[in-house]
Amino acid sequence: MVRAEAVVDLAAIRHNVAALRARLSSAELMTVVKADGYGHGMAPVARAARQAGADWIGVAVLEEALELRAAGDNGPIFCWLTTPGEPLARAIANDIDLSAGAPWEIDELAAGVTDRPARVHLKIDTGLGRGGAVPEEWPTLIRAALKEQKTGRIVITGIWSHLASSDEPKSPVNEAQVATFESAVAVAESLGVDPGFKHLANSGGTLALPETHFDLVRPGIATYGLSPFGHALPSAELGLRPAMTLRARLAMAKRVPAGAGVSYGLTWTAPKPSTLGLVPLGYGDGLPRHASNGAPVQVHGIRRSVVGRICMDQCVVNLDDGDAAAGDEVVLFGPGDHGEPTADDWADAAGTINYEIVTRLGPRIPRRYV
Ligand code: PLP
Repeated sequence: MVRAEAVVDLAAIRHNVAALRARLSSAELMTVVKADGYGHGMAPVARAARQAGADWIGVAVLEEALELRAAGDNGPIFCWLTTPGEPLARAIANDIDLSAGAPWEIDELAAGVTDRPARVHLKIDTGLGRGGAVPEEWPTLIRAALKEQKTGRIVITGIWSHLASSDEPKSPVNEAQVATFESAVAVAESLGVDPGFKHLANSGGTLALPETHFDLVRPGIATYGLSPFGHALPSAELGLRPAMTLRARLAMAKRVPAGAGVSYGLTWTAPKPSTLGLVPLGYGDGLPRHASNGAPVQVHGIRRSVVGRICMDQCVVNLDDGDAAAGDEVVLFGPGDHGEPTADDWADAAGTINYEIVTRLGPRIPRRYV
């Protein structure tokens, strides 16, 4: 490491995939690697997941699906978010399973077909209010799909939806979504459709709500060893191992007198003579600026805090009376096994969720795979 690195433990990814798989009775497992594998690196995570038994890989957008194919992944890939005008023909020719939540999306897919039918998963809105067909639209969506299935241009491969509140397993919303999903499946079957793979669960559902498993589950965050429930149910209690450690080297360390102000706006002032360390990472690397004045780090085994505002390329940590020199290691977050802060600690400091902490890390931070 020269300036900074995100160390990604692929053995932890494989462990988490296997642990998730072990929770399933008959359902298949789709590992979600969108957004560059939640910041961990899409292709390396997908490879590790396949090695550990992932049946499917899930991505949000077409570029991701095509990049995985270009990287040599030949297994089932599901891509759920397309926008009018995208190269659906290329996706279909690359055997990417696609989603449709409206009749016009079925038409677009059918129009993109050349030598083989499009594999389509019907998207149902069971209450998240994001994409997919609401109950009044189910019959028209299903009939449109059936019509194109009869022409041989599409194959209905699945029916799916997404949970709104699985991070709160006791929320009545989960039960309601399962019931609505089952109604949609029943409507499809009553119209003569074999809906294929029925899938609903993300990490929260996979871990805490077996009734959401159906034929296939789609965990993302748990793959990376982070808990969808945050501090309420830490990853260790779920048998998961956080895969990423973000570390850097201090660019400099210096003593300042009492009263010295730090960083833009001088929002922190040293209460006594103090040693400050300069961390060469900032919001340009994906650190959340909202974590200014409080984000935790570990230097020489001791927890320290970011003081002052996080800048674009750097931030300052208060080392108090500690001894430190340029080049010393600072751990921003990791699994927490050695007293270092976790992504959840950073999430608390920034008022966000662990998902965002890892996903927002930018390309300026090299990933090193171990
Ligand atoms: N399925 C869909 C459609 C998603 O959008 C996501 C991520 O937001 C996931 C599965 C994985 O969710 P999680 O990371 O909470 O497991």
